[in-house]
Amino acid sequence: MISIDKQNFKGKKTIIRVDFNVPMSSSKTVLDPSRIHAARSTILKVINDGGSCILMSHLGRPEGKDQKFSLKHIVSEVEKTLNKSVFFAKDSIGEKTEKLVKSLQPGQVLMLENLRFYKEETEGNKLFAQKLASYADYYINDAFGTAHRAHASTTIIAQFFKNKKFSGHLLSKEVEAIKKVLESGQKPVLAILGGAKVSSKITIIESIIGKADEIILGGGMAFTFIKALGGNIGNSICENDKLDLALNILKKAKLADVKIHLPVDVICSKEFSDTGIKTTEEIYNIPENWQGLDAGPKSRAIFDKVVKRSKTILWNGPIGVFELESFSEGTISLGKSIIESTKKGAFSLVGGGDSVAAVKKFNFQSKVSYVSTGGGAMLESLEGKELPGIIALSN
Ligand code: AMP
Repeated sequence: MISIDKQNFKGKKTIIRVDFNVPMSSSKTVLDPSRIHAARSTILKVINDGGSCILMSHLGRPEGKDQKFSLKHIVSEVEKTLNKSVFFAKDSIGEKTEKLVKSLQPGQVLMLENLRFYKEETEGNKLFAQKLASYADYYINDAFGTAHRAHASTTIIAQFFKNKKFSGHLLSKEVEAIKKVLESGQKPVLAILGGAKVSSKITIIESIIGKADEIILGGGMAFTFIKALGGNIGNSICENDKLDLALNILKKAKLADVKIHLPVDVICSKEFSDTGIKTTEEIYNIPENWQGLDAGPKSRAIFDKVVKRSKTILWNGPIGVFELESFSEGTISLGKSIIESTKKGAFSLVGGGDSVAAVKKFNFQSKVSYVSTGGGAMLESLEGKELPGIIALSN
């Protein structure tokens, strides 16, 4: 994988796969422009070199050319981000688009219409990829969020750019952050895995056992472990068919000399809402009809100690129902511990799904070392998989 910093793009056309799959309001305004901002530095590198950019992305999962999913809705946000005007091609391929591409001058930016208006994109169609490739001298992949897909624009297109393909700044940063946790992280390495279900995290836990020194298992999935260990978990969320698996994971961790930390107490309620009565219970003794919805004070104190002695921290999954104010304290307190540890020099990566949402909700994103932009791609990386979009840049 070669970085764009190794290349001068002067006088050349470069097609960049960005991930502008951003959340939109019903009136078609961009709700969270983070992904557009994240691509800025790569686009500006090409422009500042004196090259021109053709940006391509998908937005949502359209069935055919559904204008609700048109990328024209985000052009003004891209213009704001780059502080320059951006041309828009109403089709990602075709004669009119070719004309626009041909007339593109150094320093100019052209954005193509949603690639997924063509089913050939997700099918990984070689001819579609070749068509897109014909527009440019160079190819940059900066779409970490879709690097786990072998689509035409994320993977297949790379074969048409031998020695002329690069990883953008965002993609490189994401890959570097994962490496820092899984390969070259300073010890002790801590993985915090939370969220609702063990079943969605099994492969990550198994892959992390070989890499981390300590693991915190929190949130809803902790109850499957507690029940497997003989605890009474009341009405708490549990996957009864995963009890053996939970015990197996604990056994594997012990064999690998990895310390596992489970919550010891939880904030409980009879209702999954902000309005019910709350109590704090020992996690092995939750009364019938009550469910654990957040880490209790003793658990928070234990997690705080573990986080503060770690030099590399991965956080994936909230440790309580952070969406409800009554059960957000555990996740907030954990976030604060991570921030303090980061201030003292630890490297902290927040990656995958709801922990990213939590970090954004509580405004922690600028205080941790890195917040991943890629949900599925980050999870697959943490599972130890090599992503097709990244492999394609290497050969
Ligand atoms: P995941 O997508 O697997 O990371 O799960 C995230 C979800 O787990 C969030 O929506 C949380 O509300 C939920 N969650 C965290 N802790 C609990 C809990 N104790 N009981 C039920 N759901 C939880």
